[in-house]
Amino acid sequence: MNLQALRDGGKAAMARALADLERHGQSDTVRRLLDEAHAHPLGQVVGFTGPPGVGKSTLLGRVVAAYRQQGHGVGVIAVDPSSKRSGGALLGDRLRLRGDAADQKVFVRSMAARDRLGGLADLTVAAMVLMRAVYDRVLIETVGVGQSECDVADVADSVVFCVQPGSGDSLQFMKAGIVEIPHIAVVTKADMGAPARRTLADLKGALSLAQGGGRKGQATGSSDSWQVQCLTLSAGEGSGIDDLITQLDKHFDFLSQEDLLDHTRQSQARGWLEDSLKDRFGREGLRRIGPVDLAPGQSPFARMHELAQR
Ligand code: GDP
Repeated sequence: MNLQALRDGGKAAMARALADLERHGQSDTVRRLLDEAHAHPLGQVVGFTGPPGVGKSTLLGRVVAAYRQQGHGVGVIAVDPSSKRSGGALLGDRLRLRGDAADQKVFVRSMAARDRLGGLADLTVAAMVLMRAVYDRVLIETVGVGQSECDVADVADSVVFCVQPGSGDSLQFMKAGIVEIPHIAVVTKADMGAPARRTLADLKGALSLAQGGGRKGQATGSSDSWQVQCLTLSAGEGSGIDDLITQLDKHFDFLSQEDLLDHTRQSQARGWLEDSLKDRFGREGLRRIGPVDLAPGQSPFARMHELAQR
């Protein structure tokens, strides 16, 4: 299958491509498709992260609906931290996407965060690359943030961190030194009223303290720094979703205008390549391979193949 066939073939083609990826990930056919998809990304990849129960799945359902209303195609990857290849509760099944089964422009897939400590599994990254070439919005849902086993910052352009009202997550957020990870911090369940407003205020306070001196390596207020945006919304009631979409659009414009998008994706691809080589050949194998270089825009899948031949 080539990229055009994948784009023209609707959900069935995407399901087939993902099945091929899982079964014959190292085959030439799969790699050619990945290379082509890597060279032709369509739009924004957004990661949603936060503890279980915070409301991520409900929120994703709303965000998918909002994007569809704007005419975007949406691919969703729900990364399940607990399940092994064939089992476990699949987060994607909980997404409020019922009734969309006939919509060819929404594709939801659950994947296990297996294989790798400290990063999303190889397959998740490859699946994202395929979806990014077919849908102009790709949403990735993971549990946890920062030092978690599935670090969405390694794969998304924009990261949304979800905080439960009254949970003290915002403090946790600061203590763990993960303040630089998200681009947008969302207090969910705004319909709870005062606790949500208090948590939003706490979060803003924590962030203004943390950002007071400017983000590391970036001058405060200069055009190359992004100030973390904080907002509250109720996915249950459907309020505040538009604000989130607006902020996501702004962040994507920011990345695109500042040339940061290519830069971010390039360093993610390089990180993926290095981690994958380490997984496959071990630290010693990696040392023998030598410097893991990746030319700007080069497919990490093709490069992986080249380096693995050495
Ligand atoms: P996830 O584990 O982060 O994916 O969270 P879910 O989306 O499954 O939601 C967890 C629980 O919070 C469920 O019982 C939801 O009905 C509830 N929930 C989700 N969004 C809201 C909201 O906006 N307001 C309120 N009050 N409850 C919500």
